[in-house]
Amino acid sequence: QKLGLNELRERYLKFFEGKGHLRLPSFSLIPQNDPSLLLINSGMAPLKPYFTGKEEPPRRRVTTCQKCIRTPDIENVGKTARHGTFFEMLGNFSFGDYFKKEAIPWAWEFVTQELKMPVDRLWVSIYEEDDEAFEIWNKDVGVPAERIVRMGKKDNFWEHGTGPCGPCSEIYFDRGVEKGCGKPDCKVGCDCDRFIEFWNLVFTQFNKDEDGNYTRLPNPNIDTGMGLERLACIMQDVDNLFEVDTVRNVLDYVCKTAGVKYHESEKKDISIRVITDHIRSTTMMVSDGVIPSNEGRGYVLRRLLRRAARHGKLLGINKPFLYDIAMVVINESKEAYPELEEKRKYIQDVIKNEEEKFELTIDQGLIILSKYIEETKAKNSKTITGEMAFELHGTYGFPIDLTREIAEESGLSVDEEGFREEMEKHRKIAKEDYLKKQGSAWSDDIYSTLDKNIKTEFLGYSENAAEAKV
Ligand code: ATP
Ligand code: MG
Ligand code: MG
Ligand code: MG
Repeated sequence: QKLGLNELRERYLKFFEGKGHLRLPSFSLIPQNDPSLLLINSGMAPLKPYFTGKEEPPRRRVTTCQKCIRTPDIENVGKTARHGTFFEMLGNFSFGDYFKKEAIPWAWEFVTQELKMPVDRLWVSIYEEDDEAFEIWNKDVGVPAERIVRMGKKDNFWEHGTGPCGPCSEIYFDRGVEKGCGKPDCKVGCDCDRFIEFWNLVFTQFNKDEDGNYTRLPNPNIDTGMGLERLACIMQDVDNLFEVDTVRNVLDYVCKTAGVKYHESEKKDISIRVITDHIRSTTMMVSDGVIPSNEGRGYVLRRLLRRAARHGKLLGINKPFLYDIAMVVINESKEAYPELEEKRKYIQDVIKNEEEKFELTIDQGLIILSKYIEETKAKNSKTITGEMAFELHGTYGFPIDLTREIAEESGLSVDEEGFREEMEKHRKIAKEDYLKKQGSAWSDDIYSTLDKNIKTEFLGYSENAAEAKV
């Protein structure tokens, strides 16, 4: 009897309730009062004020399952077994309450006793200087020394912009040689999918300020993050995140819609997984009040939807379809996120509107782009010019990364610097004309007819540019 994703979530939250934690619902994907972050990307992110002492937590021990978006992982989606732009992160948190001596044995207890993962498949990493963590893993928990790997700052020191940070310790599951890259030096920490990292225990000892100074927090904290889909992938013994029960139901529906079979061609499988992922992330974003637009979060949403729409084309789907697949996402996740059911119609309307808008120009845009690709190759050039990319953007509503992705499939790159120059030029010279020219592919007017209460507030340009770069 394999545990489903929804059951695993409940098991985890119950387990930590049993250890005195207060269960809080997931926070919105839209950060509140945090200009350093475009979208919530970890369980800890919305709890920052409790870690820094800015706000008093409702209890010193808290457990959550947090919706997360990580657009920087987008290139990996559909290709690795373990990355989605959307995932749920399970976490147990201590605000100056318990520390390593409790957090480590509890994590082990959950994994080996509650879930009964085979101990001989488990590995642990620690920060190279963290002898304290080594002692606890080795002496208190009984993990053999050769199963504890010391790693450097890049992997085992956790920080995201400013705020709480510190050394961390991660738990890995060995899925066997056949899942690995086959390289002779493949081991824990290798980027392939053999040793799959699934739980990160962060020992938050410092606060990092805007100038990059680390100061010791008066009371150290615990912040852990375990990807629910990754955990389910291990527990259900499936190949990748997209084959986990609830996600697989979305994937199957994508296949049904496209009339294609999963596992027939690797190329198609990637498109199927990309769509499956992007419809999950966009459904969740819209449910939390993000609407497609040309900046910030709205642009992230737009790019995800348009990228998914284009992968739909690759599978031979020639009509709006994502709004329909959103229904499956809602059905699979509504127990944990009741707002999905409440906003079902709204979510589907927003997605459908965006699809219909892009549908007006995508086919023509794709034809133009293949013409550009041919021209470029004929000239023995390797680069799509800034003007071409701008034309695709302005007239056909192609986000630059979509143009880049398609160009790369033909071995070409895009002059993105030139593209930005074109953007600037047109912005300055003929703002009015340009706005007119954008026409139906970009206009946001349609959203004013949708439920205004769910619209998100505009946060300006202070958002983290790195995060915004899908
Ligand atoms: P990886 O090295 O595999 O990219 P990470 O080190 O970036 O993962 P963390 O920042 O440590 O991940 O996040 C904590 C946990 O969240 C991870 O151990 C994993 O279980 C999960 N997680 C992180 N990124 C993703 C993702 N893109 N999709 C699904 N789960 C993820
Ligand atoms: Mg990562
Ligand atoms: Mg990692
Ligand atoms: Mg990690």
